[in-house]
Amino acid sequence: MKLPTIAHIRAYSMGGAAAKIHGQGGGDYHDQGKDHWIDNHIATPMSKYKEYEQSRQSFGLNVLGTLVVEVEASDGTTGFAISTAGTIGCFIVEHHLSRFVEGKRVDQIKLIHDQMLNSTLFYSGGGGVVINTISAVDLALWDLYGKVVKLPVYKLLGGAVRDEIHFYATGARPDLAKEMGFIGGKLPTHWSSAFGDEGIAKDIATLADMRERVGDKFWLMFDCWMSQDVNYATKLAHAAAPYKLKWMEECFPPNQIESYRELKKNMPKGMLMTTGEHTGTLEGFKELSDAGVDILQPDVGWCGGVTSLCEIAAIAKSRGQLVVPHGSSVYSHHAVITFTNTPFSEMLMTAPKADHVRPQFDPVLLDEPIPHDGIITAEELDKPGFGVELNRSCPLERPFEH
Ligand SMILES: [Mg+2]
Repeated sequence: MKLPTIAHIRAYSMGGAAAKIHGQGGGDYHDQGKDHWIDNHIATPMSKYKEYEQSRQSFGLNVLGTLVVEVEASDGTTGFAISTAGTIGCFIVEHHLSRFVEGKRVDQIKLIHDQMLNSTLFYSGGGGVVINTISAVDLALWDLYGKVVKLPVYKLLGGAVRDEIHFYATGARPDLAKEMGFIGGKLPTHWSSAFGDEGIAKDIATLADMRERVGDKFWLMFDCWMSQDVNYATKLAHAAAPYKLKWMEECFPPNQIESYRELKKNMPKGMLMTTGEHTGTLEGFKELSDAGVDILQPDVGWCGGVTSLCEIAAIAKSRGQLVVPHGSSVYSHHAVITFTNTPFSEMLMTAPKADHVRPQFDPVLLDEPIPHDGIITAEELDKPGFGVELNRSCPLERPFEH
């Protein structure tokens, strides 16, 4: 089969516009409208400042907006993907990364990936918006390749190792998630180490209430969004153990490797330590794995794309650890269904009250599958590429051209 080359790459942004026009976040899922659980007094490293305590949007969590990367092959086939990088990402794609993409054959994804990573080392700082952008290009390339050869990405990656993906739900209402068929519910913590023992007591009261509602067997987890120190996390973990908390997630910033190592030693036996959504390099994931993180949680849109996610999964596998990516919908589904060390996956509840299942990247993707009874089947993923199309009724802007 003679494969076409990549003729064009284009980058579009939807900076903050999704929330204003559609009341929905798109690729920047934090960019939700008012009165959304995802922006309701969630503990962060900024919680210590009174003026930024109540809302993550108040300190700029939704400032980047959506990046859409579109790649077009010489035969006219197009692929696309999204991430969180907005206008900054558009600049990087159009003025820098385009040179590594255009002219290559559609199957040369690993070569392009390596050139993107190495050529941006002098300003990527090992993660952040540059890696988000590279991730979107990588994902768009996998989508294009799948669409050209008319196969779903998961088949290009070696095929499914299970017939279906079972999901836990992240959101404010694990009790409702249980009714919807999910296997567990992950709650954001609302208090951080800035609030001391009083903060611990308040989050434990929420956990106790939720345990009462969901019964003994349903999984409950805490997502701590980099808001704690080792002492606080240790005390919270021990206070949560009687309520069978399954794991403590992202207690510390991504580079505080020693804090993770220390917490792992201090935690009650059997409770899991998880993190990874804000780590953007392979080396960073190796360090987290070395520190004893039980579940690595890369975001495929922020860690370097599917190409990087497969490498991270291998690091976890080498130690018997799990890799359970941070949300990210179809871009995660097609990878994790091929991983033997991903027995379940995450569904981020983007409905404002977390009371029904809504596609995570609504309204940017068309045909985005959602779990029914907590499950997505391999058959539902059986469409070329990532199986989704770009909703061109979204207000896309192309701020730069090359
Ligand atoms: Mg998290």
